[in-house]
Amino acid sequence: MEQKKEFIVSYSSGSLFITFFPYKPFIFEKDELEIDAYYIASNQAYQYSQKLIEEYKAQGIEAYIPKINFKKTCAELGLGVIGMNDLLIHETYGTRFAISMVYVNGESLKLKVESLNEESSTIHYSLFTIHCTRCRACVLACPSKALDNGFNISKCLRQHMNTIRFDDETGKLFGNKIWGCDLCQRACPLNTVQAVRPPEHWQEKVKVSEFLKTLEENGDLSWLENDIGANMVSRKRLLHMTRNALKNMR
Ligand code: SF4
Ligand code: SF4
Repeated sequence: MEQKKEFIVSYSSGSLFITFFPYKPFIFEKDELEIDAYYIASNQAYQYSQKLIEEYKAQGIEAYIPKINFKKTCAELGLGVIGMNDLLIHETYGTRFAISMVYVNGESLKLKVESLNEESSTIHYSLFTIHCTRCRACVLACPSKALDNGFNISKCLRQHMNTIRFDDETGKLFGNKIWGCDLCQRACPLNTVQAVRPPEHWQEKVKVSEFLKTLEENGDLSWLENDIGANMVSRKRLLHMTRNALKNMR
């Protein structure tokens, strides 16, 4: 895991703990199914939020995930800008990070500082200094034209992946992706984080023939559940996506 970065915003009624979980995007081979590295970071962010909430609850302090737009809130706080790709861009991580937010009622900064562990020994407050250049590289890279006139979520492949209700033409656009589409992020010149191979324990398992066999034979998917969260590992959905990918890979 990359080093996470924490920001704390104090209000009269409490404190908002914002944590960024940076990640490196994955490079997959031609015979592998693609699952974006984002989902690992997103799971880490979720688990971290739950842990914080539990810790505060144990001390009798109310804490919860606020129902606010995370990206917009961070942009308003000067922690990044929203680019033409509709994502929050940070000056170091580009768009390659997941966000955890926990609101703690009546909380003081002191209590949090005392509970910091080694991993998060530094609290960073930074103001953003770079901006989306509106170069349109993300717009041109999007295969479903979801960014042509501002972000149209109903056209975004990630949205179609959530529902798995898509037609053959859309199915072709997925290629070998079974979770996530990051083509607009790959095209963005502000994303300078180097891509890496997926974790070693994924490498055999995400080969399309192996993954299909696992799904058809009701095999072990705990490795994936551990990494991206059990809620993201619906066998029915994965089977649908894997068969779609297999068609595209032939
Ligand atoms: S690709 Fe260009 S237009 Fe799109 S978010 Fe990045 S800098 Fe902005
Ligand atoms: S995630 Fe994919 S489909 Fe969605 S806007 Fe980006 S490139 Fe387009």
